[in-house]
Amino acid sequence: MTMHHLRFRQVHLDFHTSGQIPGIGAAFNKEEWQKTLKDAHVNSITIFAKCHHGWHYNNTKVGNRHPNLTFDLLRAQFDACKEINVNAPIYISAGLDNNMLDQHPEWNYIPIDEQTGKTYAQSNLDAGFHKACFNSPYVDYLCEEIKEVVRDYPNCDGIFLDIINQAPCACPYCMEIMRKNGMDPHSAADRQKVAEMGLERYYRMTTAAVRDIDPNMPIFHNSGHVTPGKREILNKYFSHLELESLPTGGWGYDHFALSAKYVHTLPFDYLGMTGKFHTSWGEFGGYKNPNALRYECAAMLAYGAKSSIGDQLHPCGKLDSSTYRIIGRAYQEVEEKEAWCDNVRNVAEIAILSKAAVERNSSWELHGDIGAGRVLLEGHFLFDIIDTEATDFSQYKLIILPDDILIPAELKARLDQYLAQGGHLMLSGKSGLDADGKPLFDMGAEFGGESPYKIDYMLPIPELQGTDVDSPMVMYFPSQRVKATKAKSLGDIYDPYFNRTDHDHFCSHQHTPYKPEASGFSSAIQYGNITYFAHPVFTIYKGWGCVPMAEYLRKMVKLALGDTPRLTSNLPSTARISVMDQDAEKRTVIHLLYANVVPRGGDKTVNGIGLWGNGIVIEELMPLRGTKVTFRPKAPVASITLEPQGKDLPFQKNPDGSISFTIDEFTCHQMVVLHF
Ligand SMILES: [Zn+2]
Repeated sequence: MTMHHLRFRQVHLDFHTSGQIPGIGAAFNKEEWQKTLKDAHVNSITIFAKCHHGWHYNNTKVGNRHPNLTFDLLRAQFDACKEINVNAPIYISAGLDNNMLDQHPEWNYIPIDEQTGKTYAQSNLDAGFHKACFNSPYVDYLCEEIKEVVRDYPNCDGIFLDIINQAPCACPYCMEIMRKNGMDPHSAADRQKVAEMGLERYYRMTTAAVRDIDPNMPIFHNSGHVTPGKREILNKYFSHLELESLPTGGWGYDHFALSAKYVHTLPFDYLGMTGKFHTSWGEFGGYKNPNALRYECAAMLAYGAKSSIGDQLHPCGKLDSSTYRIIGRAYQEVEEKEAWCDNVRNVAEIAILSKAAVERNSSWELHGDIGAGRVLLEGHFLFDIIDTEATDFSQYKLIILPDDILIPAELKARLDQYLAQGGHLMLSGKSGLDADGKPLFDMGAEFGGESPYKIDYMLPIPELQGTDVDSPMVMYFPSQRVKATKAKSLGDIYDPYFNRTDHDHFCSHQHTPYKPEASGFSSAIQYGNITYFAHPVFTIYKGWGCVPMAEYLRKMVKLALGDTPRLTSNLPSTARISVMDQDAEKRTVIHLLYANVVPRGGDKTVNGIGLWGNGIVIEELMPLRGTKVTFRPKAPVASITLEPQGKDLPFQKNPDGSISFTIDEFTCHQMVVLHF
């Protein structure tokens, strides 16, 4: 499969439309559609063959057309796009299909409550979509729908298949597989195995349905998140990646950045997918301030991605004028900047080795991975997130294994080799220990297992403390009992008087205070090329977000880099910075990004009405002034320009080979281009 090169300015046009709504596509007008897309600088739009309701919008002989659609809407949209050189990938709902699952109730996925082992049905009473089981004949039906689209639209720009997941299921087909293979339906492990078989079956069959007809047709299977460490699936079944991540829809503003940090280590072109909605998908009449989309699209450029903005088309088929005015504001800027953002490579000196990848864990909420990612984003470090198949550890000066990664023997051998070649490791909590809590590496210290205290306190040595804090800081999870022998101790643990357990053992509202004397155990140590934290510090930081803790962790990362990070700046923690090499153009692009994200709303429910999303917004974009950056380039710099303004920027060459420059003022996003 050849790698698919993506366009920069895309729209993902949801069209999940109830069969109860009349006049589908009645207001579609070719000229208006074309003008709206052109005016909004859109050059690719993903349009619908079949939606989650199970209705088709193409002339289908396989499935069922929407009952209130009287013409081939997909064809009309598609031809309108092609006439003006707008790409048109085609969307087919795969996991959800109410229409077909009503006709074939036996194809429904039957979920199991893994706590009780009991099944529960998807409701036929409540509003909501039904999920198909990928072990059922539904997948054969889906493949026929896919083939029809690929045959009828040979020049479409890809097939987008949605809602790709399979959890343990108790449908007749899953039960039959278990019976046939001598598996136990009451075993959670066997159920999981059958679920994985279903997912693999889905990938194999649907991808073949596309490629048997056109081996070069781009294909993407959407699960809402790309989990690190699933290369065998990605390499076999994907042509490119779309990182669904609506910051205000529950993903938050760091999810996309951290996804991109992993994905840019893979051999795929990728896009970031946000939404125009105030909250998330399916929100008719919900809008962001244009500044939010400007920032989100700029972040995509900064992290090496193309852009896609999610929208939902009104059933009448007319694109919403407010939406495309807002999108146009963002895409006009993307168009001006994209020349500096294509075929780029992330510059990184640190890698976070992902727990998801090491342990084959598909959870989105791996607190250690995310906490470490936030520390590096907020500290403006240059980093990747890697899996165990990352070809070359030695390209990184520092590798972080956050908090609770059980290192398998094969990985241990690679890390030993990495250390021997001069690499640095940062370990924390249980990472770097075996299952019995004994250290896997020589860290110049004695390890005595986990502390009996559920919370304790930590006082770093003075040079690592947060601003104006020289007292012990509370730590919300237990530490490992570590005594430095040959290692340098980087701080002390202070134990509480007792655990907060019952009526006789508690103090005040939250925490039992610390005893005035240090416990004799270290909160962190450094030995050779290894830095180790006694606590799961990244999980704690992800959970509580304490500022002196952030300052401490940034100082620790800097220390582990030998106090010489490749890039330093005076940017605030809310700003972001990335460095991209654009080798073919003989230049390096430094991206400065800044927006103030604020909470407005965000309650889970208000008077019984649930909120989908997290109630965070960007409204005004405030300028940042006097940004100073020092960076060690890979080669002598001939000149620096600010882009897309095309303005020369004076810079200073330092004796250590680094360069320094100052940006007087920028708002939202500034590219600083180093020419070699
Ligand atoms: Zn099933």
